[in-house]
Amino acid sequence: MLADMHTHSFFSPDADREASIEAMARRASELGLYALTVTDHCDCNYWLTAEEGSYPDYQQNDSMMFGAGEYAPASIEAVTALREQYPILRCGTELGQLVQAPKEAALMAADPRLDFVIGSLHMNAGRPDFYWIEYNKMDTSEVYTLLDDYFAEELETCMTADFDILGHLTYPLRSIVGEYGIQVDMSRYEDVIREIFCTLIERGRGIEINTAGLRRKLAQPSPTLEYVKLYRSLGGEILTLGSDAHRISDIGAGLREAAELAKEAGFRYTAVYSRRKPEFIRLWI
Ligand SMILES: [Zn+2]
Ligand SMILES: [Zn+2]
Repeated sequence: MLADMHTHSFFSPDADREASIEAMARRASELGLYALTVTDHCDCNYWLTAEEGSYPDYQQNDSMMFGAGEYAPASIEAVTALREQYPILRCGTELGQLVQAPKEAALMAADPRLDFVIGSLHMNAGRPDFYWIEYNKMDTSEVYTLLDDYFAEELETCMTADFDILGHLTYPLRSIVGEYGIQVDMSRYEDVIREIFCTLIERGRGIEINTAGLRRKLAQPSPTLEYVKLYRSLGGEILTLGSDAHRISDIGAGLREAAELAKEAGFRYTAVYSRRKPEFIRLWI
């Protein structure tokens, strides 16, 4: 039994224009998935003003080279409207940079229609998305400074923000190691990663195995087996699997590999969320 807990529809500005909610739901059914959670982007630091009880205006930062998109509120509305017709659907969002815009992040996470909230960090404060940084123009110490800040903010996110699972921990490695071939000594981050996991466990939150990196040069999920094992050994029980698909053909991609990895790390169940509560489904292998 597999559920894809991290997917993007055309409401995300960086997703394929063909990826309608209906087409995604049909594809997930064809694949025999237990559930499909649509988690369109809401990069909280790009929300401008927040009026009490309503969504703030959302304005794209000019430096983002994205096309038009209607973002998370429109996605939540569309998924909610289609749930009866497609029972496989769950309504989620991927909040980015929660501690950089805490008011906006809390407002989004409080939406009662949401089944699931991913907490992600795509960019350090005042910096572009890790995806866009040209690491070959930096010296090693600058790369480490970026990573130091990244892990420190991930820890702060875990300590303070409202979300269900931490998205793609080690996300910057997709670009730094995968695209630029720069090797990183990850032993430097052992303590902070341990603290991140302990905090998540204490607060009843979880992690995901995000398979997008398997489809890129990095050829590894985020995070990798050793971290999933560490999380488990510390008492971690909540684990979701997500393709991070940004187009129909990637829905469910890598979930079998992720399930095998979860099993190897000692998991017998993965989590699916309804109304922000985890339900545990048995891994089929
Ligand atoms: Zn993400
Ligand atoms: Zn995503």
